[in-house]
Amino acid sequence: MLPVVALLGRPNVGKSTLFNQLTRSRDALVADSPGLTRDRQYGIGRVGPRPFIVIDTGGIGEAERPVEELMEQQSLRALEEADIAIFVVDGRQGLTPADEQLARAFRKQSRTVLLAVNKAEGQSRDEVTAEFHALALGEPRAISATLGRGIQPLIEDALSHV
Ligand code: GDP
Ligand code: MG
Repeated sequence: MLPVVALLGRPNVGKSTLFNQLTRSRDALVADSPGLTRDRQYGIGRVGPRPFIVIDTGGIGEAERPVEELMEQQSLRALEEADIAIFVVDGRQGLTPADEQLARAFRKQSRTVLLAVNKAEGQSRDEVTAEFHALALGEPRAISATLGRGIQPLIEDALSHV
């Protein structure tokens, strides 16, 4: 059985871009308008010491539900299928209430959740990660999904927890 890594986080933070980097594919839909990816998508991760399954999440389902509620529910469902999760936040936009809501839900469950601050290129690592310590999910790691920076050590760390 391959280890399973879920990518969680609110829309537009770069989960699908990261999925494509990890799977070396362009399968996931990357778009400027948030929420285009439907529910979950699976791929084989090929970065780091051994292959793994990667789950991309996101998308707008039933329109009558509040987006935040749906996002949290989808994340927790993906997390149930995963050995470990990477919670992606947006280092350009900074910490948002939706990030805090997700972090609260993640802290309540037992899976290890690593925190990745994406879109960190061109910013100092310490500055871009500073405010995300408040999420209390361990040391935030600065990455750039588009440039592929910081991803290999993140995955090595993730797989070391499995
Ligand atoms: P998702 O909704 O979380 O799956 O986010 P996407 O992967 O669809 O990306 C949303 C937007 O952020 C797209 O315009 C991406 O090109 C952009 N993006 C993703 N990763 C990075 C990054 O590392 N740096 C920058 N500057 N933009 C990024
Ligand atoms: Mg997406």
